[in-house]
Amino acid sequence: MSVSVDLTELHRLHGLLRDVRDELARGPRQTKARELVVANAKTDVSNKQEELQQTRLSADRKGLELKTLESKLTDLRGKLNQASSNREYDILRGQIEADVAAKAVLEDEILEHLDRVDRLQKDIVSAQGRVQQTEQDKTAYIAEFNAAAVELRGREANLLAALQKAEAVLSGDNLAKYRRLVEAHGADALASVENGVCTGCYVSLTPQQRVLLNSGQILFCSSCGRLMYAPAQ
Ligand SMILES: [Zn+2]
Repeated sequence: MSVSVDLTELHRLHGLLRDVRDELARGPRQTKARELVVANAKTDVSNKQEELQQTRLSADRKGLELKTLESKLTDLRGKLNQASSNREYDILRGQIEADVAAKAVLEDEILEHLDRVDRLQKDIVSAQGRVQQTEQDKTAYIAEFNAAAVELRGREANLLAALQKAEAVLSGDNLAKYRRLVEAHGADALASVENGVCTGCYVSLTPQQRVLLNSGQILFCSSCGRLMYAPAQ
């Protein structure tokens, strides 16, 4: 086999390994994203529960105000019946009218509060449903990914074994240099040469470099440092 064939294969294997590792890295990222969705759904539930509690407290307070106002009205009406003068009567009538109006406002507010309590209770049920749904989604994703990961790790191991064999084309300083490049750039450690140009950096090779490359010499790009190869047809 020619160096060109070996290096083309080496680069192809590195590309496949990168794809497999990208897929393996996607799992934890996607899981984290789903955990965030669950956390947001839970926050939504607790915000609504807090709002429900506050609305109930406020409704209770207004209920107490209403009771106080009602007993005050009973008291005022009693006094009205015993008014000793027209002036006193008019004053009491005025107070009663004002309190009756205030009572109507309060009753409306209490009704509004009770409506809100009702609505919030329904909202909480659906928000809790969303928590459950997002948790199921997360669990299903993790199970799906874990199953896929078994296969991906198998492919990764096979690729690493194939790479080790393919690397036999390199030795000595070239091998050491290649390993450093792979360590730093992964699949980008290699670049094919197309039309006399390094596809890693798009700098042209010198005529002498082209001759060396075509004669099967191991050559690193003098511009970007990548291990270059003429792609096998
Ligand atoms: Zn280059």
